[in-house]
Amino acid sequence: MPTPAEERVRDEPILVDGSAGEGGGQILRTSLAASLLTGTPFEITRIRANRRRPGLLAQHLTAVRAAAEIANASVEGARLHSGRLVFRPGRVQAGEYGFDVGTAGSATLVLQTVLLPLAEAGGPSTVTVTGGTHNLGAPPFEFLESAYLPLLRRMGVDADVQLERPGFHPAGGGRIIATIRPAGWRPLELTERGSVRSMRARAVVSRLPLSIAHRELAVLQRRLALPPESLIAEEMEADGPGNAVLVAVECDHVTEVFTGFGRRGLPAEEVAAEVADQVERYLEAGAPVGPHLADQLLLPLVRAPGSRFLTSSPTSHFETNLAVLRKFFRSGLATEQTEAGVLVQS
Ligand code: ATP
Repeated sequence: MPTPAEERVRDEPILVDGSAGEGGGQILRTSLAASLLTGTPFEITRIRANRRRPGLLAQHLTAVRAAAEIANASVEGARLHSGRLVFRPGRVQAGEYGFDVGTAGSATLVLQTVLLPLAEAGGPSTVTVTGGTHNLGAPPFEFLESAYLPLLRRMGVDADVQLERPGFHPAGGGRIIATIRPAGWRPLELTERGSVRSMRARAVVSRLPLSIAHRELAVLQRRLALPPESLIAEEMEADGPGNAVLVAVECDHVTEVFTGFGRRGLPAEEVAAEVADQVERYLEAGAPVGPHLADQLLLPLVRAPGSRFLTSSPTSHFETNLAVLRKFFRSGLATEQTEAGVLVQS
């Protein structure tokens, strides 16, 4: 773990350009988490400038409020559509928290904002987040449960999550409960995937015919040569209609989760085909860490020096997150292009 002297504890806010690189909500959420972990204030301008509806939407505002609440922070600019925010954190307090996005905005992204700061807070916490649990463009609950958190636990973060109720766009109303206990960081070594042990496909529907799930599973069975016992079609009770298709690829050293989200006008077969494409790309690439996991593992990696992972092809989320983290942490991350992919080391 970096000593406090290695980190920039300072009064002057770090300046973050919210339009840099990917220019989305992740720049804000990563800045919030890094600010809480280092005790460093920051000012972000041009928030989500590259998005169709720029500024703070409900999900981002909830992340700001959550971060402020756990650390008794002072905040300027925390209102809907705001393009600028100044955030000055106090000390993070473990405890029982509840945050409600109020729309179908992603609950998992709000949880990820406060998870690591609470893991370092020195006491147990319970966090309940209400909102979307299966959103296009965000990690679905199962990704946190089966891909992200198992790696964090390997790194010494003692946390788990429960899905109390799913939430789909546009109705929302899903609920996730995270339990976080104090622990110590350990380095992660994840440069090889090992053999594929199993692949499981689950298609879930809420307030839609179960036949949609069966059509999706038929595509996955054919494309990925899955045995019938690895296919699950499931009806879930949510506030509104929704559909997600999840494939978990369990390998010797890592489990990855790939997701497709049903949306109006997109045939079930195409939703499933998108997921099959993602799985095939992952299997062909050979690196253990897939594109989404790669950008999400960067912050934990900074906190566990001596870690390394290999990812196939870094996304713009990955590059952007790396740039944000380099502003907050002196003991940073090194990346190296190798034949097998990009090696990230802390
Ligand atoms: P916006 O782009 O509207 O600002 P946002 O706040 O939701 O949206 P992004 O900056 O796009 O945020 O970040 C989305 C995060 O969700 C990234 O960490 C990305 O890796 C992750 N993510 C997106 N899709 C998936 C998926 N299918 N599985 C796992 N993680 C995902």
